Amino acid sequence: MANIEINLIENRKPVPATDELGFGVHFSDHMLVMDYNLDQGWHGARIEPYGPIQIDPSMMALHYGQAIFEGMKAFRASDGNINLFRARDHFNRFNNSARRVCIPELDVEELLTGLKKLLEIDQQWVPSEHGTALYIRPFIFATDQFLGVRPSHTYKLMIILSPVGAYYAEGFNPVKIMVEDEYVRAVRGGIGAIKTPGNYAASLLAAVKAQKKGFTQVLWLDALELKWLEEVGTMNIMVKIGDEVITPPLNGSILPGITRDSTIKILQNWNIPLIEKQISINEVMQAGSDGTLKEMFGTGTAAIISPVGSIHYKEDNVIINSGNVGELSQKLFEEITAIQYGSKDDTYNWIDTIDVV
Ligand SMILES: *Cc1c(COP(=O)(O)O)cnc(C)c1O
Repeated sequence: MANIEINLIENRKPVPATDELGFGVHFSDHMLVMDYNLDQGWHGARIEPYGPIQIDPSMMALHYGQAIFEGMKAFRASDGNINLFRARDHFNRFNNSARRVCIPELDVEELLTGLKKLLEIDQQWVPSEHGTALYIRPFIFATDQFLGVRPSHTYKLMIILSPVGAYYAEGFNPVKIMVEDEYVRAVRGGIGAIKTPGNYAASLLAAVKAQKKGFTQVLWLDALELKWLEEVGTMNIMVKIGDEVITPPLNGSILPGITRDSTIKILQNWNIPLIEKQISINEVMQAGSDGTLKEMFGTGTAAIISPVGSIHYKEDNVIINSGNVGELSQKLFEEITAIQYGSKDDTYNWIDTIDVV
């Protein structure tokens, strides 16, 4: 991506006010685009004005879902510079997703160079109020005009940017979750471990069902036995029972979250016992009723840490920590965000800084 073509927009849009940001509704002035074909491989990296694209009705991604995406964030540091959080890890995972659905991989360093250039150009779209961020959405989709089922021969990559408001604008708020015991999200050997659209389509009906019953999120169990914890909504799950933090191992149906990994590394650094092991919903409900279930939280780029206030499973309900935010959830949230906004040293080497001129 050494010779990236740049075509700037004529009239920049106004950046929305902080309280109007929301999540994923506003988009910056520019986007990064690249194409793939069999002759040239990935080529034609360019930064263009953000806007609609033309697609053919027979475009393969629309019919068979050969597509992948990523979600990461950039933060405005107090010195005005931009902190990009774990972008290499996100792009490595992007390639991992690509492999699973037969999409040709990309050079991670080139992607990073392109993204940094895009961030430089759209730097005023990184909001500065604490809690806000610029959400970065890279994605690739199959573009062959063909209705047969096979890997496409052509693809398009795009990176778009969306300024997002504080997830916890009204304070850190524990969610009510419902354990889903009918539908499943993913099965080992399937596509649950990668960020591909089909997984999210598969999750919608259960989410709607939970919301109708007054719950915020679904807790997913494994597909084979409907017994073991997998994920919560689109986040990884952690439970604190007694003094131990337990999270399910990456067994092939769980998405390897970067926030999960950041949390594990921080807990290890704090000498807090963290075990990756299978944990059943019955163990969790039991710990809930005998008082040893201290905390439960989801981890993901959007919310960072999302505390769980109650769990509903079949006919049973347990309240966690009287429905309040746990001490560890709070500490982890503060630690991770302090590194992201640069108020704490980046001892883990997670930040790429973009100097703003
Ligand atoms: C993206 C995602 C996560 C969290 O991953 P992060 O890298 O922490 O954002 C967890 N589960 C699912 C299903 C996801 O799509």
